[in-house]
Amino acid sequence: MPAITLTDVVKTYPPREKGASPLTAVDGVSLEIADGEIFGIIGYSGAGKSTLVRLINALEPTTSGRIEIDGSPITGLPERQLRAKRAGIGMIFQQFNLFSSKTVWGNVEFPLKAAGVPKAEHQRRISELLHFVGLADKAHARPDQLSGGQKQRVGIARALATSPGILLADEATSALDPETTQEVLALLRRVNAELGITIVVITHEMDVIKSIADRVAVMDKGRVVEIGETFEVFSSP
Ligand code: ADP
Ligand code: ADP
Repeated sequence: MPAITLTDVVKTYPPREKGASPLTAVDGVSLEIADGEIFGIIGYSGAGKSTLVRLINALEPTTSGRIEIDGSPITGLPERQLRAKRAGIGMIFQQFNLFSSKTVWGNVEFPLKAAGVPKAEHQRRISELLHFVGLADKAHARPDQLSGGQKQRVGIARALATSPGILLADEATSALDPETTQEVLALLRRVNAELGITIVVITHEMDVIKSIADRVAVMDKGRVVEIGETFEVFSSP
């Protein structure tokens, strides 16, 4: 069963000002992301990538079309059921989105609290995660004491806290230098290989896709204009 199935997904935003026309950010996207793969979505700024991510994570409703996660539809579900679904999808971001007033520990604990995981389980879970991302010695540090790569590793630990089956990485290496980018991509490969988590990498950077994605969809003006194995898509003229 695919991890994510999109069928004819459309997202149209109302006009920003009176007299302007509505903007279709995602314009009839259909694709299947297999369980356990690393799937890339690439395109220029404005192509609709981030909108697509927000639809997959059910942060915004679709205008039309159908989205299934692990074979069950999320489109049309009431908010209460969506919250449970979201716990199955982790997310990491370009600007890391860490809580600056919380420690590393507190950041990773946040989703456990939100999901109502019993306090007694936090200790084991958080230290496991911090070991996995190589930050066991930074539990008491605050984000402003960390490098960009370390911040993103906290982001990854936090995203994995509720044991999601899917990780969405939205421009997750775009704020990092090339060396740190490779470190974070290596960690994402371990997340995929050792934890069996399906990863969707959204980026405008071809090198990132080439380095990590099994398959890639190229987006332009809200549509998927090309899809296939990464080496095929980037070798075609
Ligand atoms: P990308 O992530 O590929 O840069 P986006 O999904 O952010 O693309 O944007 C796709 C298009 O949708 C852009 O034209 C953008 O201006 C528009 N858009 C995105 N979010 C909104 C919104 N909340 N309201 C109106 N238009 C939006
Ligand atoms: P906040 O969530 O306000 O940022 P902390 O992250 O400092 O607070 O701590 C949250 C809770 O986790 C506290 O009860 C703290 O004692 C506990 N805690 C923090 N770091 C560790 C650690 N390395 N090992 C065990 N418990 C910890």
